[in-house]
Amino acid sequence: DSFDAMGLQENLLRGIYAYGFEKPSAIQQRGIVPFCMGLDVIQQAQSGTGKTATFCSGILQQLDYAMVQCQALVLAPTRELAQQIEKVMRALGDYLGVKVHACVGGTSVREDQRILQSGVHVVVGTPGRVFDMLRRQSLRPDYIKMFVLDEADEMLSRGFKDQIYDIFQLLPAKIQVGVFSATMPPEALEITRKFMNKPVRILV
Ligand code: AMP
Repeated sequence: DSFDAMGLQENLLRGIYAYGFEKPSAIQQRGIVPFCMGLDVIQQAQSGTGKTATFCSGILQQLDYAMVQCQALVLAPTRELAQQIEKVMRALGDYLGVKVHACVGGTSVREDQRILQSGVHVVVGTPGRVFDMLRRQSLRPDYIKMFVLDEADEMLSRGFKDQIYDIFQLLPAKIQVGVFSATMPPEALEITRKFMNKPVRILV
């Protein structure tokens, strides 16, 4: 049980170790490899279990760095969480040269548009602003191949269901979906049934 045995790129491993992680947590041990294989994954895990690094590693491993187009989209329920994920993604992907941007409410729309225009590999954001960027075509969905819902239950309880569905409609049909949620209320199960393809379930 080590990060070395997961088949990750050298420069991703360097980022993981430089960040200070030595051994994978239980969720990382079980979740990183299936995610890296491109499988849809449902991970029922509380925060504090290391879920952020699980999907960040899975995304960072699969990006095509030769192309500066948004290839992964992560949704989170709050601005603070989205910005926290942005930091982790940037740190773990430091040696890969990943370009990440957080699109959250309460910040300048123009600035978001400028950064997206300049080119990013990954967008992390709250549903409202992300949908806004898609609607304005400032965020192009064409190359997005990975979509992660972090704290899905929390997003649903904050009333983001319609916006999550709207975003799904704008994304390419063949897309890898990861759902991370502490609990699985009916609305979360509905999302997994509607939008996921033979998901692997991991309970930590
Ligand atoms: P999360 O569940 O993603 O919010 O992570 C909870 C905390 O655990 C964060 O402070 C992480 O930096 C830390 N963490 C995650 N994975 C590991 C690991 N493999 N080794 C040590 N700390 C970790």
